[in-house]
Amino acid sequence: MEICTVGGYEEVGKNMTAIKVGDDVFLFDAGLYLPPVIELQADDNFQEYTEKNLREVGALPDDLTLDKLGWRDKVRAIFLSHAHLDHVAALPYLIHRYPNVPILATPFTMGVVDYLFEDAKVELKNKKILMQPNSSYKIKGRSGEYTVEFVHATHSTLQCAFIALHTKEGVVFYALDFKLDKHPVMGEPANYSRFKELSKKGVKVLIVDALYSGTDRRCPSERIARDLVEDALSTVRDKNSALFITTFSSHIARLKSIVEFGKLTKRKIFFIGRSLNKYVTCAQQIKMCPFSRDIQLIKYKNQVDGLLKKVEHNRGDYMIVCTGHQAEPGSILDRIVSDKTPFKFKAGDNIIFSSSVIPVPININARDMMDKKLRKKGVRIQADVHVSGHGSREDLRDLVDLLKPKIIIPAHGSLQQETTMVELAGELGYKFHETVFLSANGKLLKL
Ligand SMILES: [Zn+2]
Repeated sequence: MEICTVGGYEEVGKNMTAIKVGDDVFLFDAGLYLPPVIELQADDNFQEYTEKNLREVGALPDDLTLDKLGWRDKVRAIFLSHAHLDHVAALPYLIHRYPNVPILATPFTMGVVDYLFEDAKVELKNKKILMQPNSSYKIKGRSGEYTVEFVHATHSTLQCAFIALHTKEGVVFYALDFKLDKHPVMGEPANYSRFKELSKKGVKVLIVDALYSGTDRRCPSERIARDLVEDALSTVRDKNSALFITTFSSHIARLKSIVEFGKLTKRKIFFIGRSLNKYVTCAQQIKMCPFSRDIQLIKYKNQVDGLLKKVEHNRGDYMIVCTGHQAEPGSILDRIVSDKTPFKFKAGDNIIFSSSVIPVPININARDMMDKKLRKKGVRIQADVHVSGHGSREDLRDLVDLLKPKIIIPAHGSLQQETTMVELAGELGYKFHETVFLSANGKLLKL
């Protein structure tokens, strides 16, 4: 078996891994690296995203490596683990290189992928195979038959999967991204009994989300985030000031908590922006949007401005859920804070960030600037009303313990972030360069 760690092994983004067994290659994920995408958009000459400009700025996984290896024509399937952009959003720009290759994803992930193709104005002609959580599918290759399993995982969006590929050399277990949440706010805990069965069958290699392998804790449950949201919103009940709350559009469980406790403020709840509309619609399509009746979705700019005008005059009547928690230029929150809408923040108004700043310079600087503007206006800021969706060191220890893989390959972070996973593996009896490897983008590992 050979593994090409195409992208996402030196940064948080552009995830792609290729596995080759005999004459058959399988691709896991096709994500974007978002910081250069945001910079590209901010450029004065920017018109639209193309494969060319995205490749030039290093936003796409460098899958040209597969051509050099002679692997591209051998790709038999593309597996998508979950709906986050750093796992799926490169697909519209790369898919033309893989004609007739089927794409496998859960219904929620596939719904988001459809939206991404629509946004990129690219037609998706490849066969789409919908994988229900905890289901499997057989794939015929040149060198044999394979079974791929989408094992239910807990993370921070809906229908996330661990992908288990059964090969004649053993199981490849792809665990990007996950945390081991025993009390998820939506859906079930991860499929622990299946982990044990797979471990008995023999997991040859575990490719794992090592982002927080250096943090000595378990990642707190989403239930904790629910309590944080409740607490944050309890401070604004019976107030006549404005209330805005922002979070990740794809985090449907978090949105559920926000609506649940938002209702107690007796305010009308509006979700504004295209991105929220996109993910909430996908959740509705798979009947996993329990708060549909409690909210109104506003999508278009003129409707948004109309609503914000009403909020300006009746501040205590509304709770506005919006995008822009990373202070992305041009996001609704950025426009509001920069006084580009009919609503103007004033002293005593509230903004809740149910998110954390993604620690890259472009986001840190943007949020700093936004916070300064908000403070100048006397707005009450509640930040970090959030828990992560990525497992920490003790989640990782548990996963390794359950699966007992022969080999571990840390992924999803900088080399420094992956090194702490190598150290943890060392603690668990794995040997560097023999049974645990530190890879890099474009590197080939022969196992
Ligand atoms: Zn993710």
